[in-house]
Amino acid sequence: MKPSVVLYHPVPPETRQLLNKQFNLITFDKVDESNREDFLNACADADGMIGMGLPVPTQDLSRSANLKAIATISTGFDAFDVPWLSERRILLMNLFDPLTETTADLGFALLMATARRIAELDRKVRHGEWGKAVAKDWFGLDIHGKTLGIVGMGRIGFAIARRGALGCNMRVLYTSRTPKPEADSKLGARRCALDELLSESDFVCLVVPLSAETRHLIGTRELGLMKSSSILINIARGAVVDQDALIQALANNTIHAAGLDVFENEPLELDSALMQMDNVVLAPHIGSATQETRDAMARYAAESLIDFLIHDRVRNPVNPQVL
Ligand code: NAP
Repeated sequence: MKPSVVLYHPVPPETRQLLNKQFNLITFDKVDESNREDFLNACADADGMIGMGLPVPTQDLSRSANLKAIATISTGFDAFDVPWLSERRILLMNLFDPLTETTADLGFALLMATARRIAELDRKVRHGEWGKAVAKDWFGLDIHGKTLGIVGMGRIGFAIARRGALGCNMRVLYTSRTPKPEADSKLGARRCALDELLSESDFVCLVVPLSAETRHLIGTRELGLMKSSSILINIARGAVVDQDALIQALANNTIHAAGLDVFENEPLELDSALMQMDNVVLAPHIGSATQETRDAMARYAAESLIDFLIHDRVRNPVNPQVL
């Protein structure tokens, strides 16, 4: 008998076909209050699940006695209670290859848009505020030759650092738990302590996973260490930054500006002070959101689940200890 799998995120037709061929597939295009019980009932009998993040608390899967594996169509896995899954010997698989470069593109786009005030000046042009010559108070900041601080020199961090070092001749500083000799030799980057990175960088780019250690890694003290001319880019997860502290720092000109793809609550509340700030560029969590990449991500996750449930092979295990 084919294994039973719950698909809870829209995927391209070819990926759905691929899954359908191997599994008894139960599909939910989205999960909300209206179909939450149906979703949990389907999961109760499932051998596997595939979707982006998880639309319910992990513990709600307690009735899923047969569940062996979940493939998330994302790099981040902070939506899951991994120790809870591990206790029940449920394998979680994430992905990275198809989205590293795309997310790095977005990180660098936010950096450039924020430094050159693209979104703010676009609004001014549309409102008819463009006079004959652009006045000094519309000037931005240079990017080339500046210092880029990468907090979390992993796959995406390296891809952003490469854009900065090789494309814009930037000096790169970084933090990571372990040394990254390739970044040092290929990009001339230097690993240093977080405080030094914050105080020396013109652009600070956050690319660490959200975990107990990185929650509110950047708060009032850390923002206070940054140069008043510096720009913070967050493409990691909203809660890596204390958002209230960031709003204060932007309002007080403790830092110059911020480019944000992620927020403590998503979607960002309409009454958030960030909405009113001209020195902030806001993106709706679109790091990996290109058609090509989202299609490739869905396919990769589907293949991971097929590999595990059909061929007993494992790719990208988040909790390999369950194997
Ligand atoms: P990765 O390759 O695992 O890199 C993470 C880096 O963070 C590693 O260098 C790691 O150091 C470092 N790190 C982890 N915990 C740390 C800590 N406590 N202190 C300092 N450094 C720490 O992951 P990735 O593929 O680059 O992705 C990074 C994150 O980006 C994901 O977890 C996800 O949350 C986010 N993301 C966002 C989007 C978006 O749409 N905005 C898209 C994709 C990913 P070591 O290498 O030494 O362990």
